[in-house]
Amino acid sequence: MPRDRVVIVGAGVAGLVSAFALAARGLEVTVLERRDAPGGKMRQIAIGPAQIDSGPTVFTMRWVFDELFDAAGWNLSDHVRLQPLEMLARHAWNEDSRLDLFADEERTVDAIGGFAGAAEADGYRAFCRDTKRIYEILEKPFLRAPQASMSGLISAGGLRGLMRLPQIKPFSSMWSALGQYFRDPRLQQLFGRYATYCGSSPYLAPATLMLVAHVERSGVWSIEGGMHALALALADGAKSFGATIRYGQEVSEVMIAGGRASGVRLANGEQIGADAVIVNADVAAVAGGLFGGVARRAAALTSSRARSLSAVTWSVVAKTNGFPLDLHNVFFSRDYHAEFDDIFRRDTLANEPTVYVCAQDRCGAEPNHGAEERLLVLVNAPANGDRHFYDAAEVEQCAQRTFQTLERCGLHIQSRPEATQITTPGDFNKMFPATGGALYGRSSHGWTASFQRPGARTKIPGLYLAGGSTHPGPGVPMAALSGRSAASSLLADLTSRGWSTPTAMRGGTSTR
Ligand SMILES: Cc1cc2nc3c(=O)[nH]c(=O)nc-3n(C[C@H](O)[C@H](O)[C@H](O)COP(=O)(O)OP(=O)(O)OC[C@H]3O[C@@H](n4cnc5c(N)ncnc54)[C@H](O)[C@@H]3O)c2cc1C
Repeated sequence: MPRDRVVIVGAGVAGLVSAFALAARGLEVTVLERRDAPGGKMRQIAIGPAQIDSGPTVFTMRWVFDELFDAAGWNLSDHVRLQPLEMLARHAWNEDSRLDLFADEERTVDAIGGFAGAAEADGYRAFCRDTKRIYEILEKPFLRAPQASMSGLISAGGLRGLMRLPQIKPFSSMWSALGQYFRDPRLQQLFGRYATYCGSSPYLAPATLMLVAHVERSGVWSIEGGMHALALALADGAKSFGATIRYGQEVSEVMIAGGRASGVRLANGEQIGADAVIVNADVAAVAGGLFGGVARRAAALTSSRARSLSAVTWSVVAKTNGFPLDLHNVFFSRDYHAEFDDIFRRDTLANEPTVYVCAQDRCGAEPNHGAEERLLVLVNAPANGDRHFYDAAEVEQCAQRTFQTLERCGLHIQSRPEATQITTPGDFNKMFPATGGALYGRSSHGWTASFQRPGARTKIPGLYLAGGSTHPGPGVPMAALSGRSAASSLLADLTSRGWSTPTAMRGGTSTR
């Protein structure tokens, strides 16, 4: 019996999750990826023999992947080696002011008490309680739902109607809400940074996004071989269920016949027919017409002003000294408000950036004294890579400001130019066309923003969207949830039309 054919455009985490779930159900899946490796933003950069994770580094919500593998009759741990982290991250404001956050709440309470006093430690306890509640209210009716809808949220049992709406704090900004838990501006800054996980400013994002703090407290894992190893495991899994993944294949059009998606055309002219198509490229590329004029109707164009953050990153092999790096480290600027004003209002790189450093050899091990180690250094940036050219002088100035923040906090990095690879918003825009280099879809500014991300189904039957720019939002596990939603919506639609032939494989009956 012929199997339903699905084409997936893009081997980002969402595309891979869709491919894994659908191939496990017996569909004929072809993934077309323009680059030469899976993972999309979960990429690695080679510097000599060193492989540096140069996209996401903080892995949370492993249950999303546990469920995916379980549904296919597999065990995630057999395919990806995960290690839970005791320390979530190390934070620094200067050489004398440092604070570590731990997975264990009481350990963090003690750390905050020692750092900022008993009242702030009490504030942290209240913060943990409230962020847990926000997460619990939203997990089922929002995160797991295929589409965001306020009415769905209100009618869901979890929200118990409008009564519980204020508890998710949609109408106050994250920054002002944080002021109700913490008087110490350093703690406001530390927890406000979670807005940037969704590419947003803590001054403009709703306090609902504080749930990210709960997600991180619920567990951060390191992955042996780096985050890219997860992409490889998903790709291998999909292939072992029969999916085909073709690299170096740029899709230039989603073909439509009889009002529904009928396949894709590649940039080289080749046509591939399909019963359904999932696009894992950024929604902005679909809305911008990069997949043809008809497919453009699948997503509404959002203003470039609504774009989320981009970044400037340095993937580097270097010697460090002066600061006891952990795996995840954050070095804060002295004026957080000015930093976000520079990026979102003035559309420029921050005059003094907050800097994230992922010291990838520091997972439970100290590198040999004086030896070089692998680092990813990241600062947030405006998503203007399609309208602003980052010349060498501007990149050099950004480097100076970035490394000055690190020096001020005591971290000295000695790197060699040939052992450093820089990525600017312009480079990200080339990798993810039509985005300006925005890495998290649209920003989550204002309480309605989260409802404006498109869901899996589109106006065009047979055409689905998946990825960090769709519902429920950015981040590896969230994009994975969108990939799962695209797969389950597609399966439900094929089945309801009565011409689907999904086959349960190895106990795999559900994509939830
Ligand atoms: C520097 C950085 C740091 C981050 N840090 C974290 C973190 O610590 N934790 C976290 O959870 N998340 C983090 N994120 C966000 C996270 O990486 C993303 O939200 C997630 O990986 C997005 O996945 P996606 O499914 O949207 O696909 P993407 O990664 O966007 O991949 C889409 C794929 O589609 C392909 N494609 C596009 N157009 C075409 C076409 N026409 N033809 C063929 N192929 C095409 C692209 O080449 C790409 O491979 C970070 C992102 C970046 C860049």
